[in-house]
Amino acid sequence: MTRKLFIKTYGCQMNVYDSARMADLLAPMGYAPIDEPEGADLVILNTCHIREKAAEKIYSEIGRLRRLKEERAATGAKMLIAISGCVAQAEGEEIIRRAPAVDMVVGPQAYHRLPEMIARIERGAGRVLETDFPPEDKFDRLPTGTSSQKGPAAFLTVQEGCDKFCTFCVVPYTRGAEFSRPVAQIEAEARRLVEAGVRELSLLGQNVNAYHGEGEDGEAWSLARLIRRLAAIEGLERLRYMTSHPRDMADDLIAAHRDIEKLMPYLHLPVQAGSNRVLAAMNRGHTADDYRRLIARIREARPDLALSGDFIVGFPGETDKDFEATLRLVEEIGYAQAYSFKYSRRPGTPAAASAAQVPEEEKSARLTVLQDLLARQQRAFLESLLGRTLPVLFEHAGRHEGQLVGRSPYLQPVHVSAPSALCGRIAQVRIERADTNSLAGTLAGERVAAE
Ligand code: SF4
Repeated sequence: MTRKLFIKTYGCQMNVYDSARMADLLAPMGYAPIDEPEGADLVILNTCHIREKAAEKIYSEIGRLRRLKEERAATGAKMLIAISGCVAQAEGEEIIRRAPAVDMVVGPQAYHRLPEMIARIERGAGRVLETDFPPEDKFDRLPTGTSSQKGPAAFLTVQEGCDKFCTFCVVPYTRGAEFSRPVAQIEAEARRLVEAGVRELSLLGQNVNAYHGEGEDGEAWSLARLIRRLAAIEGLERLRYMTSHPRDMADDLIAAHRDIEKLMPYLHLPVQAGSNRVLAAMNRGHTADDYRRLIARIREARPDLALSGDFIVGFPGETDKDFEATLRLVEEIGYAQAYSFKYSRRPGTPAAASAAQVPEEEKSARLTVLQDLLARQQRAFLESLLGRTLPVLFEHAGRHEGQLVGRSPYLQPVHVSAPSALCGRIAQVRIERADTNSLAGTLAGERVAAE
C-alpha cells in the first residue's frame, strides 16, 4: 500500500542530506515522497535552529498542518505530523506540550528510529519523543538504498556535531559532540551513489575538517586522507567539502588542494569577524592574522581557489572599530561569495546572556555595508571568469527550452543551451555572461569525462 510522504527541509546541507536519508528509510514502509502536504499520510518538518524566530516559524507551520490534519480526519483519513532536526532536539518537550497536533518529535541523531516510532503510534502508544543521543550509530541503521538521490551531485555526511562551542552557536547542543563516520562506511555509500549516477560528492560536517574517522588500519584518518581514498573511485569526477573551521585546516588538507585534481578549487571557510576582541568573545580560538596567514598558505597551494565565508555583524559588544576590522579583513582576503547575518540570540548559548547586545538598527546598518562589499567582490569574481573555458557538470534542465544548468568548479550555477543528453556529464563551456549569482556560456565543442 503506497503512503504519501511530505518532507519540508529547513537550514543547512546536512538537513538536506538527513531528509533524503529519512525518505530512503521510509520507502520500504510504502512511503513515497510528494511535493505538497495536501494529501500526505505523513508530514515531516526537518527544522533548523540557527536563527532567532526559527522555532516560532515552526509553530506557525504546525498550525497550518493541524488544519490539514483535521480536514483529512473529517474524511476518515489519518495524517501523522513529525518534527525532526535541530529545533526538535532543542525544544522537543516544549513542542509536545505546545502542539497537540504533533505525533512525533525526533532529534537529528535518532531519526533512524522513525519506522519503530510510527509502529508504536499505530499500535496506539500515543505521541512519541526521541531526542536522546542514542548509543547505536544511526548510519549503521540507515538503508543502503539511494532511491531518493536525484541528479549527478550529492551530499554525503561524513562528520556530525561539534566540540568548538562558539559562544553564539547552538550546534554543539543540538547535534552533540563531534562524531566521524568510519572510512569503510563512507566509501561504501560513495560507491553506491556513484553507481546511481552521482559524479560530484560534497562531504558534509558541521566541522568537517575535524574529521577523524577510523580507517581499515584502525588509525584515525584525516579529511585529506579520506578525500584521497574517495578520489580513487572510478566514475566520481568531483569532490567538495563543507563546513570547515580555520583551526582544523591541517597541512595535508592544504596539500590536497594542490595535489588532488578531483578536489574542486572552492573552500567554504567561515571567519565570522575581523576583530580579535570579537573573535575571542566568540571563542573562535584564532586571531584575524592567523586567518590571513592560513588563507595565504591555501592560496599558495591553489592560486585559483574560490573562497567563501560566513560573517556575523552586531555580536554582543561589537564596536564600530571592531566592525571596521571585519570590513578590512574582507577587503584584504576577497571572497567569491559569502553568507552574512545579524547576530541572533540563541537560547542556551553564552553570548545570549551578554548585557552588551547591539541595537537592532545598528546591526542592520552594519549588515547593509558588509553585504554591499561582499556583493561587489562576488561580482568581480564572476566577471573574472568571462572569456574563460570551464568544465561544467550539468545537473538539470533550465527554465528555457533547450537549456541546461550545471555547476562550475567554483560552485556557480552555469546556464547553457545544450542537449539534454549532457545531463549528468561534464563538458567544457566558454563563459560569456556574468549575472548576479550565476554565469552563462556556450559549449566549447569538446566533451570530457565520456561515460
Ligand atoms: S565551529 Fe561552527 S558548528 Fe561548531 S560551534 Fe562554532 S559555529 Fe557552531
